[in-house]
Amino acid sequence: MILDIVTYPDPRLKEACEPVGEITPEIRQLAADMLETMYAAPGVGLAAPQVGRNIRMIVMDDGAQEEQRRPRVLINPQLTLEGEKIVSKQEGCLSVPFNYRADVTRYERVRLRARDLDGAEIDEVLTDFAAIIVQHECDHLDGLLFIDHISRLRRSLYDTKIKKCLKRKSAG
Ligand code: ZN
Repeated sequence: MILDIVTYPDPRLKEACEPVGEITPEIRQLAADMLETMYAAPGVGLAAPQVGRNIRMIVMDDGAQEEQRRPRVLINPQLTLEGEKIVSKQEGCLSVPFNYRADVTRYERVRLRARDLDGAEIDEVLTDFAAIIVQHECDHLDGLLFIDHISRLRRSLYDTKIKKCLKRKSAG
């Protein structure tokens, strides 16, 4: 089932999420729905708070843009940032309206620890596009968006645009 995506400035996107306990059938269904929602958007990653669920689970696929699917579900992911800082070019987010994009500083390599849907431990190093996606999605679990990483000037220009649009909506 395709789920509704929560968009900025919805306050639910600013909350820190709770760890997932037992992997129940509901969690499995949510993971399947999140993947379906991500592919339909289309996007390369989606975090549970983006569909209104305040739990530490993300889905991602760093092959989605190459039409060679590599779906992943990560439960309670923890990152250690490693290597050099790099610029993630024109990053965007399904929860940030107007398809707004900006360059964001990220790390080139991360050590990822998480569990998969079978409860198996994941401990691996991600690089390149996968590293950028997982940093972006894990930020969501701590209530952060990529626009929290851009300059104050860019952010205030964007917020002005959003406010104008919301005012227009409520007036109409
Ligand atoms: Zn996002």
